[in-house]
Amino acid sequence: MDLPAYAIEAEGLFKTYPATKTSPEKRALNGVDLKVPRGSIFGLLGPNGAGKSTFINILAGLTRKSSGTVRIWDRDIDVRPRDARAAIGVVPQELAADVFFTPRESLEVQAGFYGVPKSERRTDELLRALGLTDKANAYVRQLSGGMKRRLMVAKAMVHQPPVLILDEPTAGVDVELRRQLWSYVKGLNDLGVTIVLTTHYLEEAQELCDHIAIVNRGEVVVSEPTATLLRRLDIRNVVVTPEEPVLSAPLLAGFETKLRGGGAFSVSYRTGQSSVEQVLAALRAEGLHIKDIATEDPDLEDVFLSLTYGDPAAGDPTRD
Ligand code: ADP
Repeated sequence: MDLPAYAIEAEGLFKTYPATKTSPEKRALNGVDLKVPRGSIFGLLGPNGAGKSTFINILAGLTRKSSGTVRIWDRDIDVRPRDARAAIGVVPQELAADVFFTPRESLEVQAGFYGVPKSERRTDELLRALGLTDKANAYVRQLSGGMKRRLMVAKAMVHQPPVLILDEPTAGVDVELRRQLWSYVKGLNDLGVTIVLTTHYLEEAQELCDHIAIVNRGEVVVSEPTATLLRRLDIRNVVVTPEEPVLSAPLLAGFETKLRGGGAFSVSYRTGQSSVEQVLAALRAEGLHIKDIATEDPDLEDVFLSLTYGDPAAGDPTRD
């Protein structure tokens, strides 16, 4: 059988949560097009509320899309929902531990749930791969947080899915455990498993992922190999407090500007292309008198800003 070029393909994906008594309808996905190359470690990044969980829940069959198409491992989720679901394992955000089971039992139950025949179960192998052999027969409540998380990865893998999805796997996990978890994830990837993970730690994505998509307000702002994306990260901000507070960010030739609080504004520039001196020169050329000036390192926010700059779609997607 030919392997698909893409582990996941979404086209024109929309999701609107209907209005309830207490809240208006909410468009969470606003035409998502995304292709996850087979064999990649794919980072899905975005601020809270961007639509990451909605996207993952649609893949996992937990949320119904409003429109659009999704193929997982070449299986359309509308046409072959069961086959599509069988192709992914999802590690949810919350640590939902089965306190009454041991890790071994927990994996057996999960395999049963997926209809994996006893002869094809890989419980011992998974326990070993996730470093849980010593704790195979301990009660789950006796496991540390990191062990519980590894157990959840193992549970997501009982049916040997070619695609593993991790939703914020390291939120609240300390550095040491994070490293451990990453090495397991990398190991799985080396074995050919395509990994999709959501995170809002840019650093984490940078280190682990070979492809990154940034989602903002229900849309994919960018999706490209990490190396390509990082070349966009040569952005620096200079925050300028002028003598005379401004009400709108002044236009500066060759620079992007943005209003900040208190009559200040920021100017962003690319380190490869210009310098603070050039920013200062441009400010002087505009006749602006500067009271205070400070530089900022870029963060994910800046990448969003630079990628959504001047884009009317960066408004509220529910507004149109
Ligand atoms: P993320 O995972 O990136 O934080 P979500 O997919 O959870 O984003 O949320 C996207 C948007 O959809 C948010 O505005 C959120 O409030 C809204 N949303 C998420 N789940 C529901 C739901 N079950 N009902 C109504 N609105 C929801």
